Amino acid sequence: MTGTELLETAQRVMVIMAHPDDAEIQCGGTTARLVARGAMVSYVLCTSGNRGSNDLTLTAERLAALREDEQRKAAAVLGVTHITFLGHDDGDLAFVAPRLREELVHLIRQERPDVIVTHDPFAGLLSYEVCYLHPDHRATGQAAFEAAFFCAPGPLFYPDQVAAGGSTELAEVLAPHKVSALYLVMSESPDGCVDISDTFAIKVAAIREHRSQWGQHADLEGFFRRMAEEAGARWGVPLAEAFRLMR
Ligand SMILES: [Zn+2]
Repeated sequence: MTGTELLETAQRVMVIMAHPDDAEIQCGGTTARLVARGAMVSYVLCTSGNRGSNDLTLTAERLAALREDEQRKAAAVLGVTHITFLGHDDGDLAFVAPRLREELVHLIRQERPDVIVTHDPFAGLLSYEVCYLHPDHRATGQAAFEAAFFCAPGPLFYPDQVAAGGSTELAEVLAPHKVSALYLVMSESPDGCVDISDTFAIKVAAIREHRSQWGQHADLEGFFRRMAEEAGARWGVPLAEAFRLMR
């Protein structure tokens, strides 16, 4: 047992990530596996990575359009075609937390996933590792965690989403919804993994579609192979993606 049974048997999976390329890097092999066995996987991208470049000739708008295009191509490699771009500014998710939570509640009530894969909102607290402390990753994980466990199931949270004839721009009739589990990526306390030995090559092919981020990397395949080997070592799985389960 590798602790990911709820994920491996889910029919509807929503992957909520901060930036284009997070999903492919953190759970691309898992997604390819889920899609291959017939699960419906959708993506929610909280930002379009509109500040993720050092190129002084690029505007934020052009970079966002480029990265959305790369994201669509990368997702298509894995078999994911349903993507929602929320379009918040890269780096600023913590500043729009109330709005982000409301949007995620709406999407959860609309798409009704069994399981959500998202960032670990508590990562970095022990190690002070900068990459784990990215404010967008933590803000995404926190908003998804609150939306999934506290808000989406409760009809008194954002009642205009649930009541017929509500007056907000989100007005439509949606029922409350409860997901069975959250699987957290980039966790320092993973408690399970998915064997991606069969889908590792597809994962790497998907990451390569993020050319603006990974196009210049000297050994992309080797880099992600080492990451996958480390992720699975604890469970004796050759190539894996690791997750922290929250129920
Ligand atoms: Zn990211």
